[in-house]
Amino acid sequence: MTDTDSYEKTFRWELDFSLNLGETDRKFFEGLKEKRILGKECPDCGRVFVPPQPYCDECFARTDEWVEMEQEAVVESYTVTFRQFRNMPEPPYINGAIKIGDSATSLLHFIGGIDYDEPEDLIDEVSSGTVVEPVWDDDRDGDILDIKHFEPVN
Ligand SMILES: [Zn+2]
Repeated sequence: MTDTDSYEKTFRWELDFSLNLGETDRKFFEGLKEKRILGKECPDCGRVFVPPQPYCDECFARTDEWVEMEQEAVVESYTVTFRQFRNMPEPPYINGAIKIGDSATSLLHFIGGIDYDEPEDLIDEVSSGTVVEPVWDDDRDGDILDIKHFEPVN
């Protein structure tokens, strides 16, 4: 081995940490406690963001107008997971990019209410454009998992 050869070593970190959410995230999570999905609207271009963001990423204007969103949403894209990942549910499960109402952005969340008995058929259970709605946890404490998952509206 010479001094210029690369030497790779894998490390594992387990970190518990806290962070200050700031006004935008705090108000969004407080809304979830009340089964409300809140977005923020750009005063310049009128786009609405869920999850809310403090500034418009196109106009750079401060988004200070809160909007309560409808609960119906659409799956924009999704992934079916068959392998176990640390701190994630027992597979199989589906993660989706969920567009809430007319939001300009998507919320990443689980898609449930799906028949998982035949894993090879999961890909047919959800598609881009599937209409979904949130399934709320009875015990909400201001966390993204106050919505247990979104499930297809039949
Ligand atoms: Zn804008």
